[in-house]
Amino acid sequence: MRALISVSDKTGIVEFAKELVSLGIEIISTGGTYSKLKSEGIPAIEISELTGFPECLDGRVKTLHPIVHAGLLAMRSKPEHMKQLSDLNIETIDMVVVNLYPFKATILKDGVTRDEAVENIDIGGPTMLRSAAKNYQDVAVVVDPRDYETVLNELKSEKQVSLDTKFYLMQKVFMHTSNYDTMIADYLKKERNDHELPETLTMTFEKVQDMRYGENPHQKAAFYREIGKKVGSIADAVQLNGKELSFNNINDTNGALELLKEFTEPTVVACKHGNPCGVGSDDNIVVAWDKAFDADKVSIYGGIVTVNREVTLELAEKMKSVFLEVLVAPSYQKEALELLQTKKNLRVLELRDIEVPQDKNAYDLKKVNGGLIVQTIDSELMNEEDLKVVTDRTPSEKEMEDMRFAWRVVKFVKSNGIALAKDKQTVGIGPGQVNRVWSTKQSIEHAAELIDENATKGAVLASDAFFPFDDCVEAAHQAGITAIIQPGGSIRDEDSIKKCNEYGIAMVFTGMRHFKH
Ligand code: 5GP
Repeated sequence: MRALISVSDKTGIVEFAKELVSLGIEIISTGGTYSKLKSEGIPAIEISELTGFPECLDGRVKTLHPIVHAGLLAMRSKPEHMKQLSDLNIETIDMVVVNLYPFKATILKDGVTRDEAVENIDIGGPTMLRSAAKNYQDVAVVVDPRDYETVLNELKSEKQVSLDTKFYLMQKVFMHTSNYDTMIADYLKKERNDHELPETLTMTFEKVQDMRYGENPHQKAAFYREIGKKVGSIADAVQLNGKELSFNNINDTNGALELLKEFTEPTVVACKHGNPCGVGSDDNIVVAWDKAFDADKVSIYGGIVTVNREVTLELAEKMKSVFLEVLVAPSYQKEALELLQTKKNLRVLELRDIEVPQDKNAYDLKKVNGGLIVQTIDSELMNEEDLKVVTDRTPSEKEMEDMRFAWRVVKFVKSNGIALAKDKQTVGIGPGQVNRVWSTKQSIEHAAELIDENATKGAVLASDAFFPFDDCVEAAHQAGITAIIQPGGSIRDEDSIKKCNEYGIAMVFTGMRHFKH
């Protein structure tokens, strides 16, 4: 039996090769791998000795030779194949142990050049993997060092690798080489600044962790990371305390982080089930927390909190008294972290790049039964030149400031979404109702119930899409709301404008909608 070993990742290879030799298997190897084995005293034949052809072109051509590929692809069960091999004086190769040039590690390096990346596209490795995998009935092909043990165990007990295992190894190869090629294609797409939605969509994600379950306990789930540079996302966060993140934690935290990224001033976002329940901004992060917390002291219970400034001891003391599922911040003062770590169920995450904005060209993917709908992410807020006052009264500076705040928040409220705000604090949020006036009424009722009867007096209202009727203006007026920000664009805009003028409400149109379904 002969095994060809050519590995970039040399983890465990010495031990594995030693065992193969002790089982009487002959080893053929390429340059770097050969030197490594030799230096450990493991007998091996160099590939150039086998092919009678030198490795050349800086290693670009090592194993690309008919002696190798015929040795791999010959079907042992076909007498003609075996006769041809013998006529050509070629011997079979029964095992291939190959892992590829580290393309991923190369492109993740800071300052990597395109030439360097291209040089790390493995050619001979995938070719051997494919040849061996195609002939899986006769060749065992090991691409992952974690499979060395299984293969050895079978060789020791059965003197061969079982067909079942060989079939599994074959499948693993094609998974591996297709991911490898997709990674290269993704890299090249980015290099070319190509933002077209391609004819066929392939992307590579790597598993970060298996999860205990999905959205519900009877659903299987895992978390995969997009391969590429860190982008200040939940996938880049470092967990400093608490249980493993669940499926819902990851989804909800992602939403809370997206909203936080809209703000540069000190801001605290509290979210529940993917909707914000309290958001506060202030020059002082502790005051921002007070605002987010006071906005809705009930829903924050079991919620997710994201903060865009360091968590100080003072802030941690306030947070500690609330039951939270997840907390994410760019950093923690030492004493603050120690205090939070006394809460064993609180998942504390550090995300240094919390403020890195999302890539405008990133895809937003949604799985539907039998397909996928793909769009670029909603990275815009509004075009300033489209912002226009449509009422007799122009909003005051303060109203405008609060409206800009509320507009940022409502972008992340599930449609139909309404956000009420005052003094850079949300005072009521109405998410996900099937008609807009319900969302409006709900936000107003919540303000009265969760803060006080006067919470909406002098507040502003933001709506993620236009008002189809003037009933939302009516409800806003009754609650004492003085200014409204919404996209506009309804055939009945005039009705809403008229009603605002009647009540002295100032209204602005943004010309941009932010549905979130
Ligand atoms: P070594 O460190 O043994 O010199 O090289 C091992 C690496 O070379 C493996 O990652 C393997 O996939 C790759 N490799 C093997 N044969 C060839 C070949 O003919 N051309 C290229 N470009 N890479 C090869």
